[in-house]
Amino acid sequence: METTLNLLDRYRKVMVPNYAPLNLLPIKGEGSWVTDVEGRRLLDLTGGIAVTGLGHCPPEVTEALKEQADKIWHVSNYFASLPQIELAELFTGLTGFDRVFFGNSGSEAVEAALKLARRYAFDHHGEKKNQIVSFHKSFHGRSLFTVTAGGQESYRKGFGPLPPQMIYGNFNQIDELEGLINEETCAVIMEPIMAEGGVYPATAEFAQAVREACDKHQALLIFDEVQSGAGRTGTLYAFEQLGVRPDILTSAKALGSGFPIGAMLTRDRVAQSFQPGTHGSTFGGNPLACAAAKATLEQIAKPELLANVKLRSEQLNKGLQRLGEKYQLFEEIRGLGLLIGCELKAPYKGKAKAFVEAALEKELMILVAGADVLRFVPSLRLSEEELAEGLKRLEAAIQLTLTNL
Ligand SMILES: *Cc1c(COP(=O)(O)O)cnc(C)c1O
Repeated sequence: METTLNLLDRYRKVMVPNYAPLNLLPIKGEGSWVTDVEGRRLLDLTGGIAVTGLGHCPPEVTEALKEQADKIWHVSNYFASLPQIELAELFTGLTGFDRVFFGNSGSEAVEAALKLARRYAFDHHGEKKNQIVSFHKSFHGRSLFTVTAGGQESYRKGFGPLPPQMIYGNFNQIDELEGLINEETCAVIMEPIMAEGGVYPATAEFAQAVREACDKHQALLIFDEVQSGAGRTGTLYAFEQLGVRPDILTSAKALGSGFPIGAMLTRDRVAQSFQPGTHGSTFGGNPLACAAAKATLEQIAKPELLANVKLRSEQLNKGLQRLGEKYQLFEEIRGLGLLIGCELKAPYKGKAKAFVEAALEKELMILVAGADVLRFVPSLRLSEEELAEGLKRLEAAIQLTLTNL
């Protein structure tokens, strides 16, 4: 049997070095549990970065994929397919949007949203209305357009020239909106909870103020729910808890349980700006991806599942609060549902990764959101016993980190 170190050595020789994989090589997953190549069994509180919302290899989705795999895999968008029609009907019915566009990733969903907003403004207001407003610390993807829309400068550095007419504001600062959004704004893009940037939830007041400013200046409001959507926060989409409906919604990550798919949803009038030939994707909405997403959405929309998110969220928050106080570790615990971030106190700033590495030694998988924040985005099906076990392992990992530092 090959060891993890051995395999990672092979990986590092042939892969472009844009990732730095941790010292673990998973080969099998079931629910919240992962088995690695050396036979260790780990509890996964990362959900593959908020992707395996139903856990690893959820039986309903595995079944749907196998069934579709025996029928047809791909037809291109010169043809419609049954799984696509069924998914689009289910999705629009569940969310209250009229129309949907499918891509293969979060970036592609956001790219479609930004392009649609520009095209809609062009069609209805002329080409001068082209500014896109976003917020510092936000994350919207890694294509050139979406990484420029994101509010993290380090991700854009060295990739210029960047698409122009992008304006950045401060999140949750209502009094600054007036100077930010004006007649030239074609769209405002925001995450209801900034996830990647450190887990910062928008206040309902802020979201409502952004909505009002958009309406005043005839700008479209885009909510990027690639991470916060698909049940993650205890409602199907986080916007339901803010009392604000966007004009365009993006979803991906957990949408296909790990099978790549992204989606952009919108109202009928806005959708009309994407006529045949204006935008497209070879794989987008492919029958396999749509079968996986339909089976996933059917499970995520169940009241029992969303109720479990709320219960586990309370349990996780309580457990983290206790550990934070006992070890004087956390400055703040933030988030909604099962998207929780713990900002480390001053002595531990910049050291989030040390906790992740210690957790692996204690057979627990956790994430960071930047260098100062520990992030928890487990399966939405996590049980009470599993989470209790996770918190026990987390305490052991904290103790190990504190002795090592
Ligand atoms: C992950 C993420 C993206 C990018 O998704 P990819 O599938 O990696 O392209 C975009 N927006 C948000 C909010 C995300 O969390």
